[in-house]
Amino acid sequence: MFITLRKLPEELLHLKALRARSVLAAVDADKLMRLERGSAGEREYDLLFDEAGHGNLYVYRDIYLQIEGSVTQYDTLIISESGIIVNEIKNFTGDYRVEGSMWTHSGGGQIPDDAASQLRRATGKLMRLRNTVRFNFDVSGKLIFPNDNFRLFCDDDRVWNQVVLRADLRRYLAGFNNEYSGEYASQLADVIERHIVPNPYFKQRVEFDSVRHSLYCGGCGSFKLEKQHFHLLCMTCGSRESNETHLVRAMSDFKYLFGPLEMTSRRMMQFTDGMVNYRTVLRSLAKYCHAHGQNKSTSYEFMYYDFEEAMEKEKPNRKYKDYIAR
Ligand SMILES: [Zn+2]
Repeated sequence: MFITLRKLPEELLHLKALRARSVLAAVDADKLMRLERGSAGEREYDLLFDEAGHGNLYVYRDIYLQIEGSVTQYDTLIISESGIIVNEIKNFTGDYRVEGSMWTHSGGGQIPDDAASQLRRATGKLMRLRNTVRFNFDVSGKLIFPNDNFRLFCDDDRVWNQVVLRADLRRYLAGFNNEYSGEYASQLADVIERHIVPNPYFKQRVEFDSVRHSLYCGGCGSFKLEKQHFHLLCMTCGSRESNETHLVRAMSDFKYLFGPLEMTSRRMMQFTDGMVNYRTVLRSLAKYCHAHGQNKSTSYEFMYYDFEEAMEKEKPNRKYKDYIAR
């Protein structure tokens, strides 16, 4: 069973909000593209794992483990009575060649931090954890390449033993049907859970006034919105989203753009450029945020991970529907 949700990386959410409200620098646009590609690969992997079934396993996705004073990110950990298997998911496309420990892409030279040494570090950390907790378990790992357009050229069997290509992925995941999780696997999962920490690496912030304020269409990104009674109508694509939906998107953007900057009702009015009236803003803040402090100095903390999660969880509690033009 999937124990942890696979959420979008915080850096991706930051850059998406930034792209919506400013012009991205080339290096950021490039980063965002890579993050989006990575997330698409993980979604593909999760879908295939769902199809194969994983009710007999403990599967942790996108977690950060603190081991011996440093923090390591894991795409997927699979726990059963047989121990822990690390799956590092790489949504690479194109032709790659491996010689020795060097990975090269046919399009452009050597890859500085190759996938195999990343996997080695990730499994090595878990072996160190095993020593510190004095609980014995096996650790192994695979590099998963979920993209059909990835080809690997290599004549080293040790590399091939670490790799699962798209064509073999269903079979690989179905192989876990033979595993089972009992008391031992449950204890092992406890060991892992005790070491999960929040992502310590995400620190990107921008200044409040450095991005465009106001609200934008969830269908096409346009800021040309016409106020209606309970909705905003996009003059570019015809999508119609409720005021509430727009405010939730703004709260999520606020969270990922400005970091520790306090979200107050006044700041939210500035950020949304008065597109929605004050009372509606207050009501939405109260509904989607934890409030700290009193009256005018109240600050709000968005209680959901991101826009998508808030929309999903509060679906039954929204009166007005959204219409996204496709
Ligand atoms: Zn639109």
